[in-house]
Amino acid sequence: MQLLGLNEVSGGSLPASRFPDRACAYLCDKGGEDVTERFAIRHGHGSPPLGPATFYCQCGERYLSGTREWDHLGSNEKRTSLGLLGITGLFALPFVVSLTAIAVGIYAHNRAIIIAGAIIAVLTSPFSVILVPCFLQVRDIAASIYRTRISNRLPK
Ligand SMILES: [Zn+2]
Repeated sequence: MQLLGLNEVSGGSLPASRFPDRACAYLCDKGGEDVTERFAIRHGHGSPPLGPATFYCQCGERYLSGTREWDHLGSNEKRTSLGLLGITGLFALPFVVSLTAIAVGIYAHNRAIIIAGAIIAVLTSPFSVILVPCFLQVRDIAASIYRTRISNRLPK
């Protein structure tokens, strides 16, 4: 690997201004603080994680974080992200429908609907795990939109 120069990662640290050049740690150019955890290090392709595009070190030096806000993504990136969200949501749909059936059964005092809903809920519950990343993605998008559209307008 070393002869071919593959997976060449700087073993030590780099000045933070060199991000996204790969390193084990990034130190502030000005004060030397370790700011490694402030960077969003991407593995593989796909859209960057959502978050403010820049951050300030304790000393006031500003750096690109490797994240981007939802409003700054291209329409293709947004479409891809929402498409994946829709597909994963579709897999969780039977579980959501079964919970709705239980609620309807309780409301209508219909034991057969409650039992059918409970059976479907148990059978489809493994798909409910998919809902967690869906909710997290929706939360991240909402938080990003809040940061760019609303919190900037609030008086400080
Ligand atoms: Zn600094």
